[in-house]
Amino acid sequence: MTDIRKDDFPAGSVWLVGAGPGDAELLTRKAERLIAEASIIFYDALVGPDILEMAAGAARLVHVGKRSGRHSKDQGTIDTLIVAAALQGEKVVRLKGGDPAIFGRATEELEACRLAGVVVRICPGVTAASAGAASLGASLTLRGLARKLTFVTAHARAGEALDLDWSRLADPEATLAVYMGKAAAAQVSASLIEAGLPADTPVALVENASLPSERHFHTRLDLLPLAARTALGDGPALLLIGAAMARPDGADAIVAQVAEGFAG
Ligand code: SAH
Repeated sequence: MTDIRKDDFPAGSVWLVGAGPGDAELLTRKAERLIAEASIIFYDALVGPDILEMAAGAARLVHVGKRSGRHSKDQGTIDTLIVAAALQGEKVVRLKGGDPAIFGRATEELEACRLAGVVVRICPGVTAASAGAASLGASLTLRGLARKLTFVTAHARAGEALDLDWSRLADPEATLAVYMGKAAAAQVSASLIEAGLPADTPVALVENASLPSERHFHTRLDLLPLAARTALGDGPALLLIGAAMARPDGADAIVAQVAEGFAG
């Protein structure tokens, strides 16, 4: 049997590593190993101290954190730093919240590495939508009712309006996971209702999913702006919209509909 781990992190290479939603136990074993092997780690704001503690004592930890509106380093600078470290022979981990391939600007970093001839690979992570569903004790998909799962970001570039195809997103048979949607909650709600999604569509808000500070709320689409404004704090939050997000006490109604689906 070949050992696929052997030499998969040579000096001068880069791993984009998914740190998951916050709970260190939700790291993959591979992520944990790569973090321990790295000589330098560039990490985001959403990566917690428990995870950084897994780094070797001699490793350099470089915060390149980004929270909306407060970019401490722009993407071009981050790309340059990663490539420069790899070219100096470091074992580079670029540690990102959730899964690096979901709203994580991975493409820019992959391209920068490849352009410089630096070997770069991705270690996937648990994305916020999965952690949010776990927090709610709910399934993101629901047989007969939510056959589709859409991941969308409601983050607009500074000074630009949110430009999304609302008629496509207003799909009553889908669960919509809105990343970076807190500030845009009012627009998301109004635009989806205008595009035809019923005002009473269930919505769940999950903040700090998987962390001790985790909180979640159930509401409905028309009440989403109020809920987002009043119930959420400063932590990262996800909006989950669709029939699958009905509050557990509405479970009977869903089961009845699913049963009808089977019968029909
Ligand atoms: N790559 C990440 C997403 C980065 S975008 C992933 O796969 O999860 C950052 C957004 O992700 C936040 O604005 C928030 O909407 C969501 N998010 C990240 N961590 C979260 C958490 N622990 N709880 C709720 N939402 C989270």
